Amino acid sequence: MTLTLSEIKQLPKVQLHDHLDGGVRPQTIVDLARQQQITLPSTNADELARWFYQESTAKDLQRCLAAFAISCSVMQTEAALERVAYEMIEDMFNDNVRYIETRFCPYLHRAQGLSDQQIIDSVIRGLERGREEFKVEFGVLICGIRNFADEINLQMAELACLNIGKGVVGFDFAGADLGFPLANQTKTLQLLKRHNIPLTTHAGEAANLTAIIEALDCGATRIGHACNFYNDMSNPELISATKQRILEQKIHIEINLSSNLGTGVVKSLSAHPVKLFLDQGFSIALNTDDRLMFNNTLSEEYFMFMNHYQLDLAAFKQMNQSAMRASFASAEIKSKILHDLA
Ligand SMILES: [Zn+2]
Repeated sequence: MTLTLSEIKQLPKVQLHDHLDGGVRPQTIVDLARQQQITLPSTNADELARWFYQESTAKDLQRCLAAFAISCSVMQTEAALERVAYEMIEDMFNDNVRYIETRFCPYLHRAQGLSDQQIIDSVIRGLERGREEFKVEFGVLICGIRNFADEINLQMAELACLNIGKGVVGFDFAGADLGFPLANQTKTLQLLKRHNIPLTTHAGEAANLTAIIEALDCGATRIGHACNFYNDMSNPELISATKQRILEQKIHIEINLSSNLGTGVVKSLSAHPVKLFLDQGFSIALNTDDRLMFNNTLSEEYFMFMNHYQLDLAAFKQMNQSAMRASFASAEIKSKILHDLA
């Protein structure tokens, strides 16, 4: 028997793919914009929430990016970054998420002159305060952006190297995968490799299998999205070889259902390869991607998927345990959370 939404809410969960700037509370944006005299599309939190959802699900990348520009615009001071990070942990607690990997790109928070280290320190301060109060464990992923120059992403990678083990657990390449191959990011990738920084990468979201293979070649042990895995069936041998590689190397796929449906890269839940991934033995788990943009919670993501395919508690536990095993957390935190998930 499958689980109800309230049953899923009560179960401990793990979330690996959630953007800090994509999960700000609407009321917080209103408050922070007022303090900083920033103009918003609406100063009513409910209306603003609807605006974010509409812009992000209009199947128009430019409108979605403009929405991110608004959430980032209020996250330019130490106090604002700390507050957003703290509230994110509280939101995870309220959804019974026990371990969260939150990700953001410090470069996008420099507008008012904060240094990259001040930006990271502010976020980690908020996360630590949240952990203290809500007992939710966290790890930070520093994002490079695929459509930024290698030189800028290299600065983000340097930050990851400086802060690894001090709250930062890894690196992600976010942004547009289509048209922005990792081949453009050689210096950044070399530095990450030299310092053994755990790597996840958005790939196969708008681009197809080639981007996923490229991410694996670059050393990513997790792939964000991968929803276009089967889009191009012209080379079945390549698909089959990549499947084999993902299974053998235990690559984890960070699934983002509402996000993929919202941005239109996948037409319907039935058309999404998530169930196929699960059936063929891939390590997968669900994620929210951007809770502000897609108006979702992790429990709602699991409910949508499990209800559609009538999946049971065993499948739920398997996905959350897979996420924890694939996380970049320390061995100590991994074993503690896996114990909670059992
Ligand atoms: Zn993402």
